[in-house]
Amino acid sequence: MLMKPEQEEQIRRTVDNPKIQLAVYSATARLKEKREEAVASEALPEYQELRTQANRIKKHTLENLDVYLEEFEANVEAHGGKVIYARNGAEVADFILGLARERGVRMLVKSKSMTTEEIHLNQRLEHHHLEAVETDLGEYIIQLAHDRPYHIVAPAVHMTRQDVADVFEKNLADPRTEEPEKQAMIARRNLREKFLAAGIGISGANFLVADSGAVCIVENEGNARLTTTAPPIHIAVAGLEKMIPRARDLAVFLKLLGRSGTGQLLTVYTSFLSGPRRGREADGPGEFYVVLMDNGRTRLLADAEKRQSLYCIRCGACLNACPVYRKIGGHNYPGAYSGPIGAIITPQYEGIAKDPWLPFASSLCGACAEVCPVKIDIPKILLDLRKEVVEDRAVHGGGFVERKAFQMYGWLMRRPKLYAMAGRIAAKMARLPGAASIGPAAKWGSVREVTLPARKSFRDQWREREKSK
Ligand code: SF4
Repeated sequence: MLMKPEQEEQIRRTVDNPKIQLAVYSATARLKEKREEAVASEALPEYQELRTQANRIKKHTLENLDVYLEEFEANVEAHGGKVIYARNGAEVADFILGLARERGVRMLVKSKSMTTEEIHLNQRLEHHHLEAVETDLGEYIIQLAHDRPYHIVAPAVHMTRQDVADVFEKNLADPRTEEPEKQAMIARRNLREKFLAAGIGISGANFLVADSGAVCIVENEGNARLTTTAPPIHIAVAGLEKMIPRARDLAVFLKLLGRSGTGQLLTVYTSFLSGPRRGREADGPGEFYVVLMDNGRTRLLADAEKRQSLYCIRCGACLNACPVYRKIGGHNYPGAYSGPIGAIITPQYEGIAKDPWLPFASSLCGACAEVCPVKIDIPKILLDLRKEVVEDRAVHGGGFVERKAFQMYGWLMRRPKLYAMAGRIAAKMARLPGAASIGPAAKWGSVREVTLPARKSFRDQWREREKSK
């Protein structure tokens, strides 16, 4: 069995929860529709060409990553910033903790970053009594609720405005309201104080631009801009794969990212940050650091086929298109990344043995590959990972029954007459009363309708058709 019983039970609870089903289904449907409108050929005739270009740029960058990393580092340093390489989450946290200690910082603000979610940065910092406050509205709600993001673009997609009212009432001094606009104002008021008091601002990065040493961040709330400019120190934490060669490549990626993620032509704020405040500049941080994190990424670089998993620009379109994500929701995926992209990168970052069921959490319908703006062949990678799981289980002795069953099936397939006879017997047995409540059919039938085999098989119908000619 690939999945633990408690994981199965948790998924069943999500599927049986009408409130979550409605919230996730309607939010993803809205994002899906907006994306479809934004990339339709009347709205963006060059959409397919942009996808191809984005794919080529990412492929080229990753094949020459060493060159672009050096170029990026040299340009950041030329602007007065510093690049730090971190092998994993512990090294990222150590750097931030060390700097906070040196500068006497007790509290920091953060803008939305899936990379820091991936390494549980907040928990690591809080463990050392360094307060980290999320400033993206969805992330702020999630943090107050002691929850984790449900979607890589819309972290609180599973919560209703009543849920948000409950969370605010429990954690903040403001009067209860269920009006989203008033809730946003409450968050804004509480967060303003944090921006002004924080000693460090931590952001992620949507793109790292090698030829200008710039960190590019896109957002809609303005909180990332405040996080990166109000506190005296800015630290951007990014995976190595966020690199692109030239500033002019952003013309391709920015057109794709907003449209694919939220159906926007461009997000409300696009910031380019390259180094600390200079000379006569009125604002900006006095210190600027970019932490480039590996955390399993260089392992992927070694595999020419699976390397394309690193092309991802975290737009979330594959989640909105995925029938499995829309049903089982974000919290049933074990890592920070959910949906189809989570099903391929989590097993590659963390090892296939940890959650071997993940590559199987897909119907292989191909909807994810169809919407992916950088053309990652997600179904192909899922199949490759499934192969790895099967081989791993063969080597380590798991899946004995499954293996034997497939061996027998293979043996039968090579004997057409026997195969036809076995098919007829199996169809007759499946039609016996109560057959649907025995063995694996019972499990299958407990959540869906079991269709009975046709009285006449395709083979028999074909034979009759040929005879009647
Ligand atoms: S895999 Fe493609 S569609 Fe999914 S989040 Fe990444 S870029 Fe977007």
